[in-house]
Amino acid sequence: MDQLNAPEETSESAETKDQSEEKNPVRLLIVDDEEIMREFLHEVLKDEGYVIDLASSGKDALRQMNASEYEIILTDIVMPELDGLGVVAATKNLPYSPSVIVMTGYASMETAVESMKLGAADYITKPFNIDQIRIVVRNAIEERVLKARAAEGEFYKELSRKDGLTELYNHRFFHQLLETEVSRAERYDRVVSLLMIDIDDFKTYNDSHGHPAGDLALRRLAQLLKQSSRNCDFVARYGGEEFAIIVPEISADSARRMAERLLKLIDESEFEGEEVMLGGRLTISLGIATFPMQASSKSELVEHADQALYRAKGLGKNRVVVFGEERVN
Ligand code: GH3
Ligand code: MG
Ligand code: MG
Repeated sequence: MDQLNAPEETSESAETKDQSEEKNPVRLLIVDDEEIMREFLHEVLKDEGYVIDLASSGKDALRQMNASEYEIILTDIVMPELDGLGVVAATKNLPYSPSVIVMTGYASMETAVESMKLGAADYITKPFNIDQIRIVVRNAIEERVLKARAAEGEFYKELSRKDGLTELYNHRFFHQLLETEVSRAERYDRVVSLLMIDIDDFKTYNDSHGHPAGDLALRRLAQLLKQSSRNCDFVARYGGEEFAIIVPEISADSARRMAERLLKLIDESEFEGEEVMLGGRLTISLGIATFPMQASSKSELVEHADQALYRAKGLGKNRVVVFGEERVN
C-alpha cells in the first residue's frame, strides 16, 4: 500500500480540523492496482489542495475507507479481486457518504454506466486528459458542498417553524398553515376545523410547582396532543399555555369527537403534581369552529374557535364547546 500524505498532514491534525469543516481540506482516496497510474493521478491532483491517500487494490481501499473518512474516492474499475463496482457498492456500508468517481477505458463504458446506477457520482475515461480529471473531481466536490448547504437550509427552515419548548409548530407558522388550509378548502369546496385548546387553571399549577415544572407539563401535553392527532393534522403552540390543532377534511361532528377524545385523554393522563389542581387533575378546555359552516374566513375561524373556547371556560372548564352550539358535556 502506498500512502502519500502531504507532509504537514498527520492523521492527528486531520482529526483536530474536523471541528471546523469549512477549513478542512478535502480528503481523496485514489484506488488503482497499477503503481504508475496511482502516481500519475497523484501528480495531477496534488496541487489542488487535497489530502491524498493511495490504495493499491479494492481490498486496500476498503480498509482505508473504514479507517478514515474521504469525500472523494477515485477508483479504477478493472482490478483483480474486488473491482471498482465492488468499491462503489462497499461505500454504501460506510457511516459516511463519499462521492465515488470511477475510471474506465472506452471499451468498458457499460461498466461505467453500471457504476453510476450503483451510485457513483461520475466517471472519467481513459486515456486520461489531465484537465478533465481535475474538473471532474472539482465538480464532484462542488456538488457535495451544494447538497450540504441545501440540507442545512432545510434544517434551519424547519427550526424556524418550531416552538423551542414543545417542538410543535409555532404561532407564526400556525397562521401560515391555517391560511393555506383555508384557501385550499375554499378552492376545492372542502372543510377545515380549528380546535383551540387552553389548560384549565394553569396558573395554579405554576404557582404551586414553579415555572420549570410548568414547562415540563406543557411539553407532556404537547406530546400527548401530537401523538393522538392524525399525520395530516397540524398541532401548534398558539401561545403560552394555549394550543391549536388544524384539522383538515373532516366534518364538524368528527372534529367534535376528536376534541372529546383529547379532553378525555388529557383528563385521564397523569401529570406530576396535578393533585394541587381543582378536582385533582390537570385538564383542558376546547373550542371548535369549522370553515365554511361557522366561519367565512381564516380570521373568523380563529375568532370563533376562540369564542367557543372562552365559552367552555365560562361553562365550568374541562369541556368542549362548538361555536354556535354551546353544548355542555
Ligand atoms: P384558565 O382556566 O382560565 O385558562 O386559567 P389559567 O390559570 O390557565 O389562565 P391564566 O391566563 O390566568 O394563566 C395562564 C398561566 O399560564 C399563567 C402563566 O404563568 C402560565 N404560562 C403561560 N406560558 C407559560 C410557559 O411558557 N411556561 C410556564 N411554565 N407557564 C406558562
Ligand atoms: Mg389556561
Ligand atoms: Mg390562557
